Amino acid sequence: MATATATMQPNVKIGPTKLLINGKWVDSVSGKTFPTINPSTGEVITQVAEADAPDVDKAVAAARGAFDKGPWRKKMSSADRGVLMNRLADLIEKHADELAELEALDNGKPAHVARAADLPLTIACYRYYAGWADKNHGKTIPVSGNYFCYTKHEPVGVVGQIIPWNFPLLMQAWKLGPALATGCTVVMKPAEQTPLTALRVGELIMEAGFPEGVVNLLPGYGPTAGAAIARHMDVDKVAFTGSTEVGHLIMKNAAETNLKRVTLELGGKSPNIVFADADMDEAIEGAHFALFFNQGQCCCAGSRLYVEEKAYDEFVDRSVARAKKRTVGSPFDKNTEQGPQVDQDQFNKVMSYIDAGKKEKAKLVAGGNRVGDKGYFIEPTVFADVQDNMKIAQEEIFGPVMSILKFKDLNEVVERANKSQYGLAAAVWTKDISKAHAIADSVRAGTVWVNCYDVFDAGAPFGGFKQSGIGRELGEYGLANYTEVKTVTVKL
Ligand code: ADP
Repeated sequence: MATATATMQPNVKIGPTKLLINGKWVDSVSGKTFPTINPSTGEVITQVAEADAPDVDKAVAAARGAFDKGPWRKKMSSADRGVLMNRLADLIEKHADELAELEALDNGKPAHVARAADLPLTIACYRYYAGWADKNHGKTIPVSGNYFCYTKHEPVGVVGQIIPWNFPLLMQAWKLGPALATGCTVVMKPAEQTPLTALRVGELIMEAGFPEGVVNLLPGYGPTAGAAIARHMDVDKVAFTGSTEVGHLIMKNAAETNLKRVTLELGGKSPNIVFADADMDEAIEGAHFALFFNQGQCCCAGSRLYVEEKAYDEFVDRSVARAKKRTVGSPFDKNTEQGPQVDQDQFNKVMSYIDAGKKEKAKLVAGGNRVGDKGYFIEPTVFADVQDNMKIAQEEIFGPVMSILKFKDLNEVVERANKSQYGLAAAVWTKDISKAHAIADSVRAGTVWVNCYDVFDAGAPFGGFKQSGIGRELGEYGLANYTEVKTVTVKL
């Protein structure tokens, strides 16, 4: 591991810290606040208003009013919605440097990475869905008898959206994009670790001219504000991204209340399969990126790295060398590849998985320790000779810990890859087109990358098989979860 020099933190502009309800910035009903922490130092950045059930009631009432009576659906055309969304994208673009720095401060990801990856993807997502706003039309159906039958794609209504902390701006865009394009209104809870950029975007939403109550933002905690959204009788749909454990709770809450529609984007333990005939330079760098990108905090991280026996030793040696070169340090240093984990809990969890790997006798070949004595930095860590039944091969670590496993042939690796409760993503590295297609065809996962990893586009759907989720986000498929199909039959 290399350490990037600690540079002075720029004077990052902090935006709003209150709740956005019905177009106004307000304190919480309880008056409570909670601290948001700088993961590079462990120090408090600022206090943020803490929403709970009474605030959810207010926000849902505002969203319901905007849906039933506001200009959003009564006066504005679907094309008008697209215009507002494009305006929002332009404003985010205008403030991209500032947002990237705020993201780095609150989340710990390198600001230059946020600027080069998170921001362009966020902006593209709003623009992509702006384009859909006036194109989400139904069909005419040639029914029997003298009738004219057609379908309409109507907005599902008031949607609750609960988002995680690993890509705060991007996850906000993935959720707001299809909701706003289809004409829904929103009550969104950003993650308690990273509320600041979502709130700043709230300010830009109002500046863009969205009607009051269309987007309401409620920073707060999961078991309080989050659960109140999932249990609310007047929320028509809840969209959640986070852990599989909480995904179960969201569904249970929906089932116990009003059967609100549920979409879930959950955890993963994605197999990344390297055949000996792959371009090794690309596969090694690709596998490094697949695991370590975003401090390892990606639901689709390539966290079960299967390498063919013939290439195994060379692959491990070179992956270790690459991990040792990875620069860890201040998110505000341009040379930093890896910042801190997002908070103390995540830091502790990752360190406990490193301990578990050692105890189960996986071979620790790089890293394994904390970096420095302040903030939540962890060395890029590599375990070799990992076995399928080890905890580090089965559970989601969500940190910079690579587990390398060995395989002999295609059928064996497919069987092992599919032995998981998860099915979010997978990748294969090979020059043999038949092997590539065989893997793409037989691995049970929502996304398969061939000779690449983490390639995202607003047009390409993303989501999980099995316990990695329900429904798809992005692309045309992402719209379906925000609409109800209405069938109209007219006697001629
Ligand atoms: P992680 O473990 O990665 O923090 P979580 O699933 O706990 O992931 O959190 C993702 C999002 O879900 C956050 O916004 C969090 O506040 C929220 N959340 C956590 N617990 C609950 C819950 N019981 N009900 C609703 N939302 C929750």
